[in-house]
Amino acid sequence: MNKDFLELDGAIGGGQILRSALSLSMISGRPFRIRNIRAKRSRPGLLRQHLTAVLAAAQVSGAVVEGTELGSQTLCFTPGPIRGGNYRFAIGSGGSCTLVLQTLLPALLFADGPSTLEVSGGTHNPLAPPVDFLQCAWLPLLRRMGAEVELELLRHGFMMAGGGVVRLRMAPGELQPLHLEAPGAVSKRQARALVAGVPGHVGERELQRVGKRLGWSDNELHLQFIDNDQGPGNSLLLEIGCATLTEVFSAFGQPRLGAERVADLAVDEARAWLASGTAVGEHLSDQLLLPMALAGGGSFSTLVLSDHLVSNIDVIQQFLPVRCQIQSKRQDFHDIAITAV
Ligand code: ATP
Repeated sequence: MNKDFLELDGAIGGGQILRSALSLSMISGRPFRIRNIRAKRSRPGLLRQHLTAVLAAAQVSGAVVEGTELGSQTLCFTPGPIRGGNYRFAIGSGGSCTLVLQTLLPALLFADGPSTLEVSGGTHNPLAPPVDFLQCAWLPLLRRMGAEVELELLRHGFMMAGGGVVRLRMAPGELQPLHLEAPGAVSKRQARALVAGVPGHVGERELQRVGKRLGWSDNELHLQFIDNDQGPGNSLLLEIGCATLTEVFSAFGQPRLGAERVADLAVDEARAWLASGTAVGEHLSDQLLLPMALAGGGSFSTLVLSDHLVSNIDVIQQFLPVRCQIQSKRQDFHDIAITAV
């Protein structure tokens, strides 16, 4: 095993570079040093969510770490063996629980026993996968690859207050390659508007807009009231079940963003994916790379070559003996193939 520090430049992407590096370092045993963490962001360096992921990864793998202060832009991480067990991590803000969980899950597949992981913080955050996305879109694909994993939402948490809790139960195990074809016929459509401490008409207007623009019927539109003390928060989730997989598109209520505009954000994304005929949407694409690389193979088509996709490929190829090839057929159709080398 190569014990030299792998040198990474965090400026090529966002927090995902760091989180992927943590997962891959734990799994491969290769230490890394990352500089310029989130250098191009308005608040560069480690935010609470990133720091929680670092400390959690350190605990799970008995790592030696330097640079674990909020705002730190340089980090050195030397992992030890990955240990299964019962873990609890608190972000201490509305930072995303799901991103912390996604850092640890791949590593715990390589642990010496089963694990239960509870993370508290935000469960429905802008610019991060909502829990529903993991439950309905990402985890079913990991299960198809062989992962034994269950995720429960114990309490909702919205930006800024947080206070949400998710619980993951999983067993170690090997992943098998996954090759995703075109999504096939749509068999299920469901829109859910979550409102917590926010007037119900906000969710109703979002759902009306979804119904009008996507042509979904009333029995496919659901307003869900979450206890007021878990708010304020509002999230719109569009679940589209197809022959090969389920996709979830989401948008989040924010001050000064009208309900119709929130709906439009999710609807535009869903429509673009449906029109493209690609296997997966923008977010699944960058989140499937790591599991497929660990499985030593995988492929899918997607509609955007996002910064997340491209920078994640770069980090994964530095840690693992895999190659990722991209073939662009149209502006909104790119084939991605991961192979072992
Ligand atoms: P930064 O603040 O530097 O951007 P970050 O830690 O918040 O960093 P990113 O590096 O931006 O995180 O990574 C965010 C991850 O969340 C990506 O994997 C992205 O695909 C995913 N994501 C963002 N929005 C959604 C969404 N609506 N549904 C599913 N996944 C999402």
